[in-house]
Amino acid sequence: MTAKVFDGRALALTKEIELAKKMAVMVKKPKLVSIVVGDDPTSHLYVDLKRKAAERVGIGFEKVEFKVSSKGGSAYGRKGEKLKIEEVISLIENFNKDKSVTGIMVQLPLPPTLKGYSFKVVGAIAPDKDVDGLTGKGKFLPATVKAVLDILASANVVLAGKQTVVVGRSKIVGQPLAQALTERQALVTVAHSQTPDLGEVTNRADILISATGKPGLVTQDMVKPGVVVVDVGEPKGDVADEVRQVASFITPVPGGVGPVTVACLLENIVEAA
Ligand code: NAP
Repeated sequence: MTAKVFDGRALALTKEIELAKKMAVMVKKPKLVSIVVGDDPTSHLYVDLKRKAAERVGIGFEKVEFKVSSKGGSAYGRKGEKLKIEEVISLIENFNKDKSVTGIMVQLPLPPTLKGYSFKVVGAIAPDKDVDGLTGKGKFLPATVKAVLDILASANVVLAGKQTVVVGRSKIVGQPLAQALTERQALVTVAHSQTPDLGEVTNRADILISATGKPGLVTQDMVKPGVVVVDVGEPKGDVADEVRQVASFITPVPGGVGPVTVACLLENIVEAA
């Protein structure tokens, strides 16, 4: 069997066309504020991709940058880190009150020395402006979770009663994904770095979703023939190329979950407006 390879750019384009139609009849255009802390090039790349996509459909976009020391925050020390975080939170609180701002997002992960503050920072976003669904308090699903669900729906994959394995249990991807799949009647198993025999678990999957950030973690011997595979890993996929030889459906990296996630974020912003 050779897997059908999903085209994330095509689904994203379809979504953008629909969004542009909705935007054309909106009197007040929505605006997204994206906050980036630090100078990680990948984080800036992702924010710039979001900015370009927002501009394509006519959504306002403001990127706010906070500089921190790239050498582990040593230029600030622990006190300095706290001040930096307070500054970010105070800015978020101002955007919460600003009626011209529809949605606020913080690009994660934060730099290594500030990672411990992620939930404090994200938690400062007002639930009605949490278009990336990261506070867990608003009405929006995290864009990545929405993307995975939309991809599976676009491929007519039935979730109810299906053995579904989610590899990864982070609060921003693995956990909300497992919850969303459970709510849709899938039989979900979550695997993580402490899973003793990952291959034994993944081999049970009818649907396998990997979100670990470990390139090539999932190999051909770890999946059963006909499995549906969604690879959330970025910038390199978690799933080895050889898996295509046995899967029935697979999302590539790049060009799979990534572009759909950006489009889903825009859908959330337009819905929030
Ligand atoms: P994370 O916070 O680092 O979490 C990684 C998860 O993978 C953890 O639960 C970890 O287990 C698990 N893990 C690590 N090594 C493993 C192994 N050898 N076997 C099994 N599980 C293992 O990362 P994240 O923020 O969830 O992101 C995961 C990936 O998704 C990254 O590549 C990220 O870039 C990507 N991502 C993509 C999108 C998108 O829209 N396409 C959005 C967000 C993130 P423990 O809990 O035991 O440590």
